[in-house]
Amino acid sequence: MIYFDNAATTSPLPEVLSLYMEKCQTVIGNSSSTHALGRKANRELDEARREILASFGLEKTHNLIFTSGATEGNNLSIKGVCKLYKNRGNKIIVSSVEHPSVTNVFKELEKEGFEVVYLPVNEEGKVLPSSLEEAMDNKTILVSIMGVNNEVGSINDMNALADIVHKYPKALFHSDLTQAVSKVKMPYNKIDMFTYSTHKIGGLRGDGALIYLKKIQFASLFDGGGQEGGFRSGTVDVPCALSHALAVKEAMKSMTRKIPHVKEIYDYLKEELGKLDEVSFNSPIDGSPFVLNISLKHKKASVILEALSEREIYVSSVSACSSKGEPISSVLLAMNRSEGDARNSLRLSFSESNTINEAQAFMKEFMDILERTINR
Ligand code: PMP
Repeated sequence: MIYFDNAATTSPLPEVLSLYMEKCQTVIGNSSSTHALGRKANRELDEARREILASFGLEKTHNLIFTSGATEGNNLSIKGVCKLYKNRGNKIIVSSVEHPSVTNVFKELEKEGFEVVYLPVNEEGKVLPSSLEEAMDNKTILVSIMGVNNEVGSINDMNALADIVHKYPKALFHSDLTQAVSKVKMPYNKIDMFTYSTHKIGGLRGDGALIYLKKIQFASLFDGGGQEGGFRSGTVDVPCALSHALAVKEAMKSMTRKIPHVKEIYDYLKEELGKLDEVSFNSPIDGSPFVLNISLKHKKASVILEALSEREIYVSSVSACSSKGEPISSVLLAMNRSEGDARNSLRLSFSESNTINEAQAFMKEFMDILERTINR
């Protein structure tokens, strides 16, 4: 089996899983209960929160809400601030290549009367700081731009973008950092609120966080027992929070080891795939080494994906989250690729557990499949 779909999800680290199982047995109380077991659970929860913020270097300035993942974090933060701060201004800005859990939230807010500016990207999938500068004004209350794009791996200049947003005191800078955390260096301290899912970095599925500047408040999306500062009601899964803290710590610690490892695999595949006339690249030269996106000139990507899958080689086409709806990549269209390219892309995404031998085996099988498949 060759698993090159790590941007969709990764397997939990064994130590994360075993900590989770241990804590399920030892953390017995509900962290909201006022008896000794509840207080113990609550102390463990606070410790998990503190550890995670420390992993990002943000203990002093930021706070954290545990969520079920980036989808929930994006909904909670974007809707939460827009609902609460709408009297400050009516304009919100978003890049045109966000994950649907951001894009669709902005579309909803547009229906509710917000003026939404969709920022274009260049052919490398990046937002130009000059286009953000042009769009900003005193009515703007929120800007959302992802750190690393999930389909092509392009990296935005978060320093420059944050500086522009922060010239406007009423505006908050939100970023979906799901594909960035522990994979690409990010100026976390300059981002007012960010989200991620831990299953992309060796944590458990259905787990994530929204990290935000202490001064920010949110309108809560559901009413309930008032957990997580009243912003996210519902009993908190303390064993999950503790394993979340371990996953983030391990992921951040392993950056210097895993980035060169993954880059070697990426460079090898880029060189070998570059020799094939059938393939063009969509990932920019300076993108994340964890994501390599290509388009096929004459073959149907869905057919090649299925043929690879039959040989137990797993990659993805479009993004796992949008492939059920529209089978064309809106990200690639926004990057000015042709419709043919946008319908026939494949994403290979890596983790530290992949090897160069797998990359070599992938090339052999991929070339064999290309030879056996008729043109579209
Ligand atoms: N944002 C990005 C950039 C993603 O890649 C994903 C996962 N595909 C999400 C948000 C949503 O994550 P989850 O499904 O874990 O909520």
